[in-house]
Amino acid sequence: MARLVLKFGGTSVANLDRIRNVARHVKREVDAGHQVAVVVSAMAGQTNMLVDLCRQAAPLHDAREYDAVVASGEQVTSGLLAIVLQEMGVNARSWQGWQIPMRTDGAHGAARIGEIDGERLIERISQGQVAVIAGFQGVAPDNRISTLGRGGSDTSAVAIAAAIKADRCDIYTDVDGVYTTDPRIVPTARRLDRVAFEEMLEMASLGAKVLQVRSVEMAMVHGVRTFVRSSFDDPDAPQTGIGNLPPGTLICDEDEIVEQQVVTGIAFAKDEAQISIRNVADKPGVAHAVFGPLAEANINVDMIVQNISPDGKTTDITFTVPETEYDRAMKVLEERRESVGFGAIEGARNVVKVSVIGIGMRSHAGIAAQCFRGLAEKGINIRAITTSEIKISVLIDSAYTELAVRTLHSLYGLDG
Ligand code: ADP
Ligand code: ASP
Ligand code: MG
Repeated sequence: MARLVLKFGGTSVANLDRIRNVARHVKREVDAGHQVAVVVSAMAGQTNMLVDLCRQAAPLHDAREYDAVVASGEQVTSGLLAIVLQEMGVNARSWQGWQIPMRTDGAHGAARIGEIDGERLIERISQGQVAVIAGFQGVAPDNRISTLGRGGSDTSAVAIAAAIKADRCDIYTDVDGVYTTDPRIVPTARRLDRVAFEEMLEMASLGAKVLQVRSVEMAMVHGVRTFVRSSFDDPDAPQTGIGNLPPGTLICDEDEIVEQQVVTGIAFAKDEAQISIRNVADKPGVAHAVFGPLAEANINVDMIVQNISPDGKTTDITFTVPETEYDRAMKVLEERRESVGFGAIEGARNVVKVSVIGIGMRSHAGIAAQCFRGLAEKGINIRAITTSEIKISVLIDSAYTELAVRTLHSLYGLDG
């Protein structure tokens, strides 16, 4: 007997037929004797629709009321799944964030989960009742509903798994695992059997939206074994809750991975924009004068390139900010043109960050050089570069996204 958390994403609960299919997956685990907590997302498209309604109501709206609106999608699916399970003879009860309670901080719209007391849930599920939990939502210190940021049901699921000390957290989605890159962009992408927490964290933060970044952080911190699989697999195919698993990807400790590849995957993200400041004085304190005000305005700067000054007097600084903060960043900088002292300021939104990820890079040289050569051969210009121990990221024109991802995917031998 095991204790399992099963999470179903938006496509998996998109309509009643799909919810019935999900219920069969749940019933299979219950019939096998496991204790089960389920976390559901809103039906596909619902959250977008609700976000849009808030924007139409008022472009600058109260974050608390935004949360009250967008959290409703998950309330619907948790209730519906409980009804369908009961109809199938499975003892089930829905839970909203406040009923658990799933306590978060007060950052409405992007709240972080704090401590969760799993006792009430453990009591119910150990009596054989399936807990059907609304993902994505919690309760803020002001006792109002909070939401966890887009894709947040993954994080709800992992947090619940940690709180109830589950043996595993199964993330059911519309692909049968984590692939070497987004299988919708590169048809030759291969499913990975196992991915280390650290690699998955990089892949998620660099654009692989199959798991929300915070869910991977939380899985890593609490050591939650997380298994990504498809909800479209036959729910009645023979399998056991632990061990003998269907196709999917296990996110686990590095030590559990036997065959280590140098490069595990390629990710890409279109959510950054580039800003270049020309002819900045080349003297101490300039970087602080540029980046200080951005930090004060709460704007995250990611990639930074500072050129060597040809004349010893002025230089150019290029960096990236989140796309959503681009206008604000430009404004902050324009206001300081005089005091910082720079010439032109240029920006580009049509850029993409393509990243090569793998823990094997720690012990292999030449991976970056290979990447730069591969892109050069295709005539793709690199605008900025950042590296860490286990990743290389390059910023390029977004028109070349697919070409760059496909080129790097085959270059590192990832094609299936
Ligand atoms: P859900 O609604 O179940 O949470 P998401 O749409 O959030 O599903 O995440 C699944 C999607 O993530 C897939 O349909 C796929 O297009 C995308 N994706 C991006 N990168 C990867 C990757 N490396 N492996 C698998 N899927 C990926
Ligand atoms: N429904 C929420 C969203 O679309 C949360 C989730 O699906 O994980 O962002
Ligand atoms: Mg998701």
